[in-house]
Amino acid sequence: MITAPCVSGSRDVFVQDVRVGDGYFAIIAGPCSVESRAQIMQTAHAVKASGATLLRGGAFKPRTSPYAFQGLGYEGAELLAEAGRATDLPTVSEVMSVEQVERMAACIDVLQIGTRNMQNFDLLRAVGRTGRPVLLKRGMSATIDELLAAAEYIIAEGNQNIILCERGIRTFESATRNTLDLSAIPVLRERTHLPVVVDPSHAVGVRRWIGPLCCAAKAVGAHGIIVEVHPNPSDALSDKEQALTFEDFAQITADLSRIPVMS
Ligand code: PEP
Ligand code: MN
Repeated sequence: MITAPCVSGSRDVFVQDVRVGDGYFAIIAGPCSVESRAQIMQTAHAVKASGATLLRGGAFKPRTSPYAFQGLGYEGAELLAEAGRATDLPTVSEVMSVEQVERMAACIDVLQIGTRNMQNFDLLRAVGRTGRPVLLKRGMSATIDELLAAAEYIIAEGNQNIILCERGIRTFESATRNTLDLSAIPVLRERTHLPVVVDPSHAVGVRRWIGPLCCAAKAVGAHGIIVEVHPNPSDALSDKEQALTFEDFAQITADLSRIPVMS
């Protein structure tokens, strides 16, 4: 059994002045992909107004088809950073390869490792070396042990600033995009000091089921959620079926505020 080392008994990760850990509930929101300055600015202001604490946005997109929108690359990352500064929200964005790490770390606050790269060990080592906060998503076919082993690669480079993310796993069930493994939350809370957030957007893949799962995640002890929000979901260049409208997102944060944070 792998148990990440408990350094100074704390499970908190600081992203600028945002604390992710026991007693706090992070709300990470933003579009699947950064598409334009107007889109990311509008979204940043809207999610901030509804209580988001971090801003997400993909610049490099891991798409199943090579013909699908691949993201705006570094230009997208710069736009995300600009929107983050304008709204005073720290930013989260995925890095897909070792060569992207240095340049992304220069403008993005939290480096995201996507589900498809959870066992890209060179990439894990590279983000580890930056010392920057990392959002490590569970591989869609990875066990909890394998997720923790992946976190160890980052820790082995001297970087303890890791936020784990349960984003749904592949099962025989086909009614949802993936199966959200909410039992991973209490298991991880027991097995590691690292904070764990839940991504219901990629887990269910359907807009109207995201809200209830955000609430469920908070109730079982998640340290936050990460959700996709778009000014006009039907126009989204990626993951349009799961994109929340600004109104959906406002409703979800209002519902979440009625659920106590597990300490
Ligand atoms: C994302 O968060 O944009 C994403 C691609 O997620 P995942 O790696 O969980 O599919
Ligand atoms: Mn997405």
